[in-house]
Amino acid sequence: MEIPHSFECETHLVHAGRDPASHAGMVNTPAFRGSTILSNSLTEWESRKLPGNPYASYGRFGTPTTRALETAVAALEGGHNALVFPSGLAAVTHSLLALLRSGDHALFPDSVYGPTRGFARSVLLRMGVDVEFYDPCIGADIAAQVRPNTRVVFVESPGSATFEVQDVPAIALAAHRVDAFVVMDNTWASPLFFQPFEHGVDLSIQAATKYIVGHSDALLGVATANERAWGLLQQATHDFGQTAGPDDLYLALRGLRSLSVRLHRHWESGMLLAESMARHPMVERVLHPALPGDPGYSLWRRDFKGASGLFAVALRPVPRPALEAFFDSLELFGIGLSWGGYESLCLPMDAPTRNVRPWTHTGPLLRVHAGLESCNDLVRDMQSALNRLQKWA
Ligand SMILES: *Cc1c(COP(=O)(O)O)cnc(C)c1O
Repeated sequence: MEIPHSFECETHLVHAGRDPASHAGMVNTPAFRGSTILSNSLTEWESRKLPGNPYASYGRFGTPTTRALETAVAALEGGHNALVFPSGLAAVTHSLLALLRSGDHALFPDSVYGPTRGFARSVLLRMGVDVEFYDPCIGADIAAQVRPNTRVVFVESPGSATFEVQDVPAIALAAHRVDAFVVMDNTWASPLFFQPFEHGVDLSIQAATKYIVGHSDALLGVATANERAWGLLQQATHDFGQTAGPDDLYLALRGLRSLSVRLHRHWESGMLLAESMARHPMVERVLHPALPGDPGYSLWRRDFKGASGLFAVALRPVPRPALEAFFDSLELFGIGLSWGGYESLCLPMDAPTRNVRPWTHTGPLLRVHAGLESCNDLVRDMQSALNRLQKWA
């Protein structure tokens, strides 16, 4: 079912990718399982194989469940069309493989998600792609690093671990002067709080594992392309045999329905938690672009419609037993990877890898995800854990 563009995104979240009339009246699109799709006649079989109609011929190209999620996410992101992948990282790497070939130059922000950096430095370099990192806060000055053979300029805003907001429109302008593609990891804001295609992005990635699934029970990625990037993305996805399982797709569709309600609560709790942590004497700095005073605040206000519940906190240097006391006394925050689920997390981060702008902070770096618990309880739990640090001050 196509949802008219005049509806706002909360309405899209509820209705997109649903077609009860095609599924015996069922409100939700079922989890279709299948590889083989049978045809009733030779003519029907031949029509299923027509170019531009791949979804009709084989399960690897998708089922009604796949299409439901792809059309819903493409509409939310504001792009032309989307494809699903078995993880967020697979969506990132296959999008890059769709666009890059040997001899190309590709630019990545120094603040990029660690595994994306790892892929660029191992696989892309091995393929003969010239990989270069840039200062995430560079803005229009990226023009000096863009070359005639620059094919991809990757953006992730705010950056993983350190939350630098990027001037995506200015970077896109410089990239498009040499016809490079702007590829964005838009997981932090989700399409609700950042509209990538309105800001010059050509291909936008969601690690749906995070807020879209929202319940820490599935891994999934979605890549959405504009018309210019779509053919290349679709070809590469098919060439690599990328697909996602029906149960994970179903869970992502279910997560979408409540995405806006959840995200607004993550935003609110994340702000209150960040503000309360910023006032604690053991905290050196809170890295949250929606806090006035954060270096990314003005760009965040200009380009984003909201903030998610993920931010980082740089603590004052403390010895190891202090950090143990802090983590072991947290009752509501789990220690674990990923984020975007209903439950709060607090993760000790390694010092960020940097090629361009060194990370100078010497104390521990924490990544905090504000979940859907009572915010008062979260603030109390965090404050009492931070208080445990004070005896080492
Ligand atoms: C988690 C994450 C990914 C990768 O998603 P997976 O589903 O875990 O592979 C990509 N980008 C960002 C910013 C992430 O946080």
